[in-house]
Amino acid sequence: MVSKYLLILVILMAAIFIWRSNRKLAVKERKAAEQRTKVIDMQPCRWCAVQIPTVEAVQGKHGSYCSAAHLHKAEP
Ligand SMILES: [Zn+2]
Repeated sequence: MVSKYLLILVILMAAIFIWRSNRKLAVKERKAAEQRTKVIDMQPCRWCAVQIPTVEAVQGKHGSYCSAAHLHKAEP
């Protein structure tokens, strides 16, 4: 009964293929999630304490601010 073993082999290969593609997808999703957390990385303004994305924060000498106006208020 060679065909029986062949069938098992095909099923096994299919299972491995599905498992590998699922793992690839999981890695892809994890990377995407990491990217998202990087994008929405928030920090408070030193002057008004409002949460602002780090990429949009105005950097001062003593910290970051939501706007240049608050930077000038806190660090004249
Ligand atoms: Zn502010």
